[in-house]
Amino acid sequence: MGYIEPAPITDKENPFESMMERFNIAAEKLGLDLETYEVLKSPAKQVIVSLPIVMDDGHKKVFEGYRVIHSNTLGPSKGGVRYDLDVNLDEVKALAAWMTWKCAVVDIPYGGAKGGIKCDPSVMSKGELERLTRAYTVKMYEVFGPDTDIPAPDMGTGPQEMAWIMDEYSKAQGKTVQAVVTGKPLVLGGSLGRVEATGRGVMVSTMEALRKMKIDPTAATVAVQGFGNVGSNAAKLLAQKGLKIIAISDHTGAFYNLDGIDLREASEYRATYKTLEGYTGGSKITNDELLELDVDVLVPAAKEDVINNKNADKIKAKLIVEGANGPTGAKADGILHKKGIVVVPDILANAGGVTVSYFEWVQNRLGYKWTRDRVNRRSDRIMKEAFERVFSVADKHNVSLRIASYMVAITKVADTYKLRGSF
Ligand code: GLU
Repeated sequence: MGYIEPAPITDKENPFESMMERFNIAAEKLGLDLETYEVLKSPAKQVIVSLPIVMDDGHKKVFEGYRVIHSNTLGPSKGGVRYDLDVNLDEVKALAAWMTWKCAVVDIPYGGAKGGIKCDPSVMSKGELERLTRAYTVKMYEVFGPDTDIPAPDMGTGPQEMAWIMDEYSKAQGKTVQAVVTGKPLVLGGSLGRVEATGRGVMVSTMEALRKMKIDPTAATVAVQGFGNVGSNAAKLLAQKGLKIIAISDHTGAFYNLDGIDLREASEYRATYKTLEGYTGGSKITNDELLELDVDVLVPAAKEDVINNKNADKIKAKLIVEGANGPTGAKADGILHKKGIVVVPDILANAGGVTVSYFEWVQNRLGYKWTRDRVNRRSDRIMKEAFERVFSVADKHNVSLRIASYMVAITKVADTYKLRGSF
């Protein structure tokens, strides 16, 4: 273990500070006492490991791995593991805290955590990724556990990585422990509906917001930034509800088609080429141009800080639904608010993923499998109830949905902390 300097974040906002700015506003509105404030803002545990891996060409390469447990007040900590070159301690800390607030907003019995490995999975072989994932799991034996800390997929990871984590953890336990990780392949105890769950929650939040805003969904246009698991599923499910998806993008660029993007064709293209580069189903624009399109709904479903104080005043969407974690920097909040743009924040909008992770964990512990219909029905209900809770707090206190979400979450964690004391 060692100390690693967080990567310098140039003109971008530091994600942890961005999270804290909102936390501070909500804490002040709630009149949170200083002691509870200090406890809630401090991550419970931060682990940094080095992972020496034998690469396919025989040389050894050392990767940095992280796991930050922000809180375990509500229950075992929960959160994904990200494989990305931009992974750094401050990002993982912010993402871990967002998991705490997210689980509290949707009222599931988990604390928050996040993990990450600084790597580029797109240039690694399957064997290299397996060795990396197993080495990470070995170093995290003491951290992970079905009653302590439960990883899941995030950017750059998916069911295969979760299968390796479950297998490696199970080896040490001498028995199969399915509930140590969620987002597993179906045959290993994964849940029906988990892959689409985050995108589905984004769709449900969008429909709820449009209803409140009295916008007819069948006349609404949408731009989706990011075409990974969250963006592609959100786009597909929104299109099924009659909304017209007029722009999509990935890291190589964006595509715009006023007649609507053929999502099946785009998904097939991406599955074949692993990228949207060269896609011809829309005219090519930049990611920045996509964000500034005159649409009803904008779904940022890629990375942090894409809407910031440089472009916030150029955003024309009426509604932003945050599929990604932290896509709007704190400095942009005020600008969007002033423009009357409604933002369904990440900790509410993308909570469908962790909600179905919770269902997966419950099913593993019950030894019983739910139907897709039951999973969808229950997660839709949780998302709608959470939206309603947040909306009424926003209304009552005259704050944005983001600050209201933090208020709901902080109240829940603070009340629990006060009742039980520290752990
Ligand atoms: N990585 C996802 C998120 O940011 C899912 C976490 C989980 O299912 O534990 O919400």
